[in-house]
Amino acid sequence: MSPEASSSSPWLPPSGGRSTSKIDVGVLGATGVVGQHFVNLLKDHPWFRLTWVAASERSAGKRYGDMPWRLAAPQSPAAADLTIAPLEAVDDAPQLLFSALDASVAGEAEVALARSGRLVVSNARNHRMDPLVPLLIPEVNPDHLDLLDAQRSARGWTGGIVTNPNCSVVVVAMVLGALRQFEPKRVIVTTLQALSGAGYPGVASLDALGNVIPYIGGGEEEKVETETVKILGRFAGSGIEPAGFTVSATTTRVPVPDGHTAVISIELAAKPRIEEVSAALERFTAEPQERRLPTAPERPIVLHAAQDRPQPRLDVAFGGGMPTHVGRVRPCPILGYKLIALSHNVVRGAAGAALLNAELLVSRGAGVRLASSGTGRTGYATAEVGTA
Ligand code: NAP
Repeated sequence: MSPEASSSSPWLPPSGGRSTSKIDVGVLGATGVVGQHFVNLLKDHPWFRLTWVAASERSAGKRYGDMPWRLAAPQSPAAADLTIAPLEAVDDAPQLLFSALDASVAGEAEVALARSGRLVVSNARNHRMDPLVPLLIPEVNPDHLDLLDAQRSARGWTGGIVTNPNCSVVVVAMVLGALRQFEPKRVIVTTLQALSGAGYPGVASLDALGNVIPYIGGGEEEKVETETVKILGRFAGSGIEPAGFTVSATTTRVPVPDGHTAVISIELAAKPRIEEVSAALERFTAEPQERRLPTAPERPIVLHAAQDRPQPRLDVAFGGGMPTHVGRVRPCPILGYKLIALSHNVVRGAAGAALLNAELLVSRGAGVRLASSGTGRTGYATAEVGTA
């Protein structure tokens, strides 16, 4: 496809043509907890090649490999050799960027990049509730991606912003997405959230160890209540009509390294049998699985029969951290149904979520110009999709 093709054209070759060249990508906030997970997940990615990293002035100019690396997996030599760019010097940034920026800077930086023609796939909270920004879980609301067109025309951007939900929201929204046909009415959620959800260095060890902290700042409970109904809402051409159920959330911090657990009670208008609820959770499958996106889990939800599962220590790393785990599906004397769910907060709740969003964008065709490493030219990038 020629570089002159219209901006609404897809990235993919029109007649099933294939290219083994990869799409250049960058990571904003690459030195943080989520940023390091991005760098790790991009290490052997079949479609994307990490060519650029950025962080604050504190890190800018340094070699990425000389910064503290806090993941157990070894860092890729290619990433180690990158020089960290400051946020102000983004001229060399590729067209597709993942953002793991602190919320204090993400808002303005992401808008400036979208205006400059970059597509920003962000973890930060700043733009999630913007009525023109898709808040995506590819298994639950892939059609919301079409909001990008309205965003571009309203804002005059050639790039765009796409977001993934807060790390505790994904646990709840995935469950409700699988049960949508039973018409959720009211939902009560209590979360037990991992320490890595607070970034690095996060919560002081003397506060966290042997303790449960009954409050998480930054509007965590409001995010669970508002983001969930946006995600489950209906795409109506130029906006999203929020879903017609209510969510009440209590969020707590527990001394678990990775994995947010959510204790959920749900009222379902259709009043299915418990077995039907379990079957719907277990059989849930969606567009990322149909498209065989590289980061998509084989099954979005792993249903556990054992009464003592899911557990963060035993289950969170399964499937690379991408599935949501559900167990203890049983009757609730007040709302009808209750269960316990678990997701990896930094993978499914952050870096893996954004990567899956970007894969959906590429697979569906998002219409932005990308530089492809294989050719070194700017144009509509091609990627070998649907085969990984
Ligand atoms: P983090 O460990 O504190 O990392 C923050 C990153 O932002 C670092 O790379 C930092 O660079 C950079 N940064 C900070 N101030 C900056 C500035 N003034 N200019 C440019 N860069 C700056 O935080 P995190 O946990 O990775 O979270 C990153 C984002 O993802 C946040 O918006 C967070 O809310 C969101 N999120 C996190 C999770 C999670 O589970 N951790 C889940 C979902 C969403 P330096 O290292 O140079 O300071």
